[in-house]
Amino acid sequence: MSKPIIAIVGRPNVGKSTIFNRIIGDRLAIVEDKPGVTRDRLYGSGEWNGRAFSIVDTGGIEIDGEDEIMKSVRMQAELAVEEADVIIFMVDAKSGLTHADDEVAQMLLRSRKPIVVAVNKVDNLNRRDDIYEFYNLGFGDPIAISGAHGMGIGDLLDAAIEKLPEIEEEHYDDDVIRVALIGRPNVGKSSLVNALLGEERVIVSNVAGTTRDAIDTPFERDGQKYVLIDTAGMRKRGKVYESTEKYSVMRALKAIERADVVLVLINGEEGIIEQDKHIAGYAHEAGKASIFVVNKWDVVEKDDKTMHQFETKIRDHFLFMTYAPIVFLSAKTKQRLHKLLPVVCHVSEQHALRIQTHLLNDVVSDAVAINPPPSDKGRRLRINYVTQVAVKPPTIVLFANDPDLMHFSYERYLENKIRAAFQFEGTPVRIFTRKKS
Ligand code: GDP
Ligand code: GDP
Repeated sequence: MSKPIIAIVGRPNVGKSTIFNRIIGDRLAIVEDKPGVTRDRLYGSGEWNGRAFSIVDTGGIEIDGEDEIMKSVRMQAELAVEEADVIIFMVDAKSGLTHADDEVAQMLLRSRKPIVVAVNKVDNLNRRDDIYEFYNLGFGDPIAISGAHGMGIGDLLDAAIEKLPEIEEEHYDDDVIRVALIGRPNVGKSSLVNALLGEERVIVSNVAGTTRDAIDTPFERDGQKYVLIDTAGMRKRGKVYESTEKYSVMRALKAIERADVVLVLINGEEGIIEQDKHIAGYAHEAGKASIFVVNKWDVVEKDDKTMHQFETKIRDHFLFMTYAPIVFLSAKTKQRLHKLLPVVCHVSEQHALRIQTHLLNDVVSDAVAINPPPSDKGRRLRINYVTQVAVKPPTIVLFANDPDLMHFSYERYLENKIRAAFQFEGTPVRIFTRKKS
């Protein structure tokens, strides 16, 4: 199910990233424990009153000089307007309404997106009157918040969630594998789509005003049905967008949410960059099956070690995704292209794999016998029972005497044992420890 996107927009220094961090705070802490997951985040996921959403901080662009400020603000607003389902328009109670706020408001007014005005830096209740002037923006009741004190954020999320539209979802049958291709501009996403479709068919180009429509392309090969998610997004071009990582990321994360299998494209010619990690990290967190596709392999000068060296590089950079297979190919010459779809099928099966409870328990008991669980102050973790509670991704619950005794490293050890027995190739496996009731 695709998650709606909430974007935070506003001029620099109003406190966007402070609020963003507050909203995703807890989750961030969990993710950051894991090696290889990158720290500088552009988006995160949150949940409020049972509604899951993605949230994007559109700020963080380096700027100096008034013109540059306006350029960056305008760009953020454009991105948000295009991709978000609800916009949090943030202003600053301390500095009051400024010219730059008005500029942002003008742009937002033209959109038909729901907007919530958040007045930040209302650090004490005596200053609540400071919010009245923001009624002038014309977006209804402003909400007083304080990022510094974590105040009013619940009210803000209430208001934002209330304005989220019901998302209409294209429905595909269970036997259709939904594939998203992600990667930075020019890595070869649209070329690979064309190559997979087997014809030089130019995928839908954008018609002004319809940019939000994700256009999917279905096809069938060897009796298996596939649909390529958001092929329209891949064709998107424009100076503003090309230059911003945020744009590609927002678009990519929407596609990822709707996919079963994510092809993480890497430019074989240029190697791995930070942005590749951001995007791959999102596929991992979203619980999707993933494959690294090293494209442009035709232009890489090779000897018998090159492929292995590139594999090592990928493993070093993506420590959190050692489960993802790697396919080298060329979308342009179609060299090795035939290797891709069988791997897509395979990881899709693994993503939906369900292991019988008794087999799982056997593997975990053996693992525990070889390497006993951690103990703390004389109490030792005891795992009583293990069961797989979900697929896509496979999700395993360990019932134990005291979940607090579980360590990340021991969980990782069990995951490795479980993978050694059942593979789960290409898919993340989620493991939770719960108290035996
Ligand atoms: P952004 O540029 O919009 O992302 O703004 P930041 O989140 O980086 O915040 C800009 C400055 O405002 C930082 O120095 C924050 O510490 C400060 N700030 C953020 N929220 C509050 C708040 O609620 N009250 C006060 N007094 N300062 C805040
Ligand atoms: P996108 O922005 O990710 O959709 O990338 P495109 O598919 O538009 O490709 C960007 C450029 O890379 C184009 O000039 C393509 O012709 C080129 N390209 C794509 N795939 C390959 C490949 O496998 N080998 C080579 N040599 N060039 C490629």
